[in-house]
Amino acid sequence: MKKALVCGAGGFIGSHLVKRLKKEGFWVRGVDLKYPEFAETAADDFVIGDLRDQQICRSIVDQPFNEVYQLAADMGGAGYIFTGENDADIMHNSATINLNMLDVCYKRNIKRIFYSSSACMYPEYNQMDPDNPKCSEDSAYPANPDSEYGWEKLFSERLYLAYGRNHAMEVRIARFHNIFGPEGTWTGGKEKAPAAFCRKVAEIPNGGEIEMWGDGKQTRSFLYIDECLDGVLRLMRSDFTGPVNIGSEEMVTINQLAQMVMEIAGKRLSIKHIPGPLGVRGRNSDNRLIHEKLGWKPSEPLVEGLKKTYSWIVEQVEKTKK
Ligand code: NAD
Repeated sequence: MKKALVCGAGGFIGSHLVKRLKKEGFWVRGVDLKYPEFAETAADDFVIGDLRDQQICRSIVDQPFNEVYQLAADMGGAGYIFTGENDADIMHNSATINLNMLDVCYKRNIKRIFYSSSACMYPEYNQMDPDNPKCSEDSAYPANPDSEYGWEKLFSERLYLAYGRNHAMEVRIARFHNIFGPEGTWTGGKEKAPAAFCRKVAEIPNGGEIEMWGDGKQTRSFLYIDECLDGVLRLMRSDFTGPVNIGSEEMVTINQLAQMVMEIAGKRLSIKHIPGPLGVRGRNSDNRLIHEKLGWKPSEPLVEGLKKTYSWIVEQVEKTKK
């Protein structure tokens, strides 16, 4: 039986990945500081542990694994990573996790390890024009991410590549672009834009008002979780190292995103624009490389994933009322 280790298995992408690997017949060990928040873990073995601790890392890599996925990171939406208040934690915690996990995997002779980087590592100067952001993989340097979260991702990408070069490890690196879907954080400050708008639209009665940070003209693309996992597994089992974008090329303004959610809900709400942390002005995935190397692209439009996410968030909002 094939075995997989998923670090960050209590988080959004990790908990979905565990389910997918189980469906494929893997024996799966998950590790996280916490259990998944919204559903029982599907993992065969789930270790509650802090990956900043080298001893914990050694204890979880105690046997051969065919695939190791390193998704654990100190992360959140714009309200967490762009305010500046969490910079030291974000850099220290995530870098320590990556340093520990990669070195343990090397010493225990694990060959193949996946690392989840982020589109946040792309330089700010290519993302000032909301209509023409540039995020092709080869535009990463000269580096100038707009957040410390992005700098840590860039450092860790380089760390994985160095272990690949010097220690013959088969590292696989993806740069995720705004992954969303059911069973993701939807409240509490670490949620991202799609979940935040689904929640606001679900909570406010028709004719009311929702708040939005900034003028809403900044652009982004969003990728549904199932599509993301298709890309991850395809990359992991290919002979392509990356880094490669895993995202959608369906770029929308944040105003359009909010409108889409309102249409799904059948509500008309006005938008109040307020100051808040924003990130870059424009960002879109560039899928030319992943399509060329892996033949992958998303199969569904944004609205389909939003419908599934909205109905799940409506259920969560209803539960809190009980
Ligand atoms: P998430 O926050 O839901 O999951 C990360 C998990 O890591 C959390 O469950 C957290 O408890 C765990 N973790 C943090 N510190 C830990 C520690 N010291 N020891 C053990 N576990 C620890 O985030 P996600 O959305 O599932 O993202 C997964 C990965 O993908 C992260 O590396 C993130 O940076 C990257 N990524 C995500 C997106 C996105 O849109 N979701 C975009 C770009 C990159």
